Amino acid sequence: MKKLMAANWKMYKTVADGEATAAELVGLLDGRLPADREVLVCPSFTMLSAVAPILSKAPGCSVGAQNFYPAGQGAFTGEIAPEQLLDLGCTYALAGHSERRHVLGEGDELVGRKVTFGLGAGLRMILCVGETIEERRAGQVEAVLARQLEKGLDGVLGTATAENLAIAYEPVWAIGTGEVAGPVEILAAHAFVREKLMALLPTQGAAVRILYGGSVKPDNAGTIIRLDNVDGVLVGGASLKADSFSQIVLA
Ligand code: PEP
Repeated sequence: MKKLMAANWKMYKTVADGEATAAELVGLLDGRLPADREVLVCPSFTMLSAVAPILSKAPGCSVGAQNFYPAGQGAFTGEIAPEQLLDLGCTYALAGHSERRHVLGEGDELVGRKVTFGLGAGLRMILCVGETIEERRAGQVEAVLARQLEKGLDGVLGTATAENLAIAYEPVWAIGTGEVAGPVEILAAHAFVREKLMALLPTQGAAVRILYGGSVKPDNAGTIIRLDNVDGVLVGGASLKADSFSQIVLA
């Protein structure tokens, strides 16, 4: 499996900014993307239709959504359905990002429904998991990861594969803080996620990609991406500029 180098643009950029960043990124990666790496950009809904055609034409690049509502088209004012994302050229979607869990109050049950529904609709899903600093200090890292993985993957045995599912381990205390988890913490968490994946998805769990996210930057990406059980990265702040994200992708 290719390493998945994913950008989360969060609630940043106008359509024009998004188009310019996507075009610059494609230019910077042109002819340089290693065969074992895949690039994913997750912009706001507002610019998906503008950014998808730019990235989808570039070899090894694709576009994903940061969120969706787990239902078919229907009376869900203000929400977006997986079917509508696929229509715009999205191939991936995130579920359970820490900002959705902790700022917008999404619980494990809703996150699990999103993973199940998204996979069923034909999206590739990235399930985000990770502990808060209080949970880490209380020695609860494994308990939190176990719960988020069990609930997040409840109902996908049989549909989840190494191609359509990835996990992003993102310690909440490292997201947008500049405080990156060290190799020891990343290795331990990823080994635990791998063990859990193999128990929950016996035929696929060994190959499902596990991404690390949390203050990944050009100067730490090369070390992180080469750690055991790190099959990609999910990058927020440092993905907003094409130059810095391209350095991470090529690190
Ligand atoms: C994220 O948004 O998933 C993230 C990891 O953000 P940052 O890289 O800014 O910490």
